[in-house]
Amino acid sequence: MNASAAALALALLVAFGLFGRQAWRLYRRVREGKPTSRFDDLPSRARAEAVVVVGQSKLLQRLGPGLMHAVIFWGFIVLFPTIVIAMIGAVDPHATLPWLGAQGWYALLVDVFAVGVLAGVVAAYAIRLGQRPKRFAGSHLAEANLILAWIGGIVISLLLWHSSQIALGLNDYPREWAPVSNLISGALHGDWVAVLERAAVWVHVLLILGFLVYLPYSKHLHILVAAINVFFTRTRRRGRLEPIDFEQPEADVRFGAATPRDLTWKQLLDTMSCTECGRCQDVCPAYNTGKELSPKLLIMALRDQVRAESTAALVRRRPRVQSVGQAAGGPHRLGGWPRRARTAAGRAAARCAVLGWLRAGV
Ligand code: SF4
Repeated sequence: MNASAAALALALLVAFGLFGRQAWRLYRRVREGKPTSRFDDLPSRARAEAVVVVGQSKLLQRLGPGLMHAVIFWGFIVLFPTIVIAMIGAVDPHATLPWLGAQGWYALLVDVFAVGVLAGVVAAYAIRLGQRPKRFAGSHLAEANLILAWIGGIVISLLLWHSSQIALGLNDYPREWAPVSNLISGALHGDWVAVLERAAVWVHVLLILGFLVYLPYSKHLHILVAAINVFFTRTRRRGRLEPIDFEQPEADVRFGAATPRDLTWKQLLDTMSCTECGRCQDVCPAYNTGKELSPKLLIMALRDQVRAESTAALVRRRPRVQSVGQAAGGPHRLGGWPRRARTAAGRAAARCAVLGWLRAGV
């Protein structure tokens, strides 16, 4: 085994070890939820996966942000094999994935979608930093910006690697099929291009492995969980209440939700799938009339409590924090809340809404 192969093996071991550890923890958290049946009606579940996840149907209801998100997501699917290709290339610059690594049409797709993802990242920044929609109030904006920069770094390092490969004649695909990389390669001359080729492929691989590790520990867990959550969506008619199990021993019967373990495993998964997009907050009649409840902050607060592995009560007897409105300086204030205010707002929202659940006995 050469030094590059040993370094890659070590990086993979560390990355998958850290990822697996947190993924297992989260899986255990979800399994602690109450049972609910979500393995029936497989054709409807497969259809939801195709339409909502692959087709991005819900996000495309808002054309601008939807298209931006869809291009990044589709780019992720198309570029997925380049992860394996890059790992092979990191070990041996003269090797590639059999068949696919030498296909011109795939090189073209990679170039097109790499540029598309970069455009999507720029559009996302323009929306977040330029437009600053109200629906992002209370979301983890700094972390979302970091993730966008990370995605941008992954795609830029991929394009730089392909360009330097072409400049060095290491490409297995016809260079004309990769117009963007070919164009950049025209500007690369000299001995340093060989260094750039090694640096770009390793930066690319390490950024991907770092991203894999970071996601399950971050607030943007939805990137990993959302597709799974869509599969377990409710396929029955909406609004139907779950039947009460009268066979259960009376001591085990609990109404409402006082701790995360009073939620079903699907409800726990729902909290981890929140993208913090704020669309629910945008259309919430209570929030829009200046009331304390923000459905987004409720879900975010629940997610934080579930992730903290806490069995503490979701509802405290005496409120210790200020209301959403007080904490945020009014529910319509634009994004960029201070961390302390966001935490307080989230707790207040959780308390407010969970009290509602309890009163309703849902
Ligand atoms: S719960 Fe609200 S903020 Fe979270 S993903 Fe759903 S609509 Fe967006």
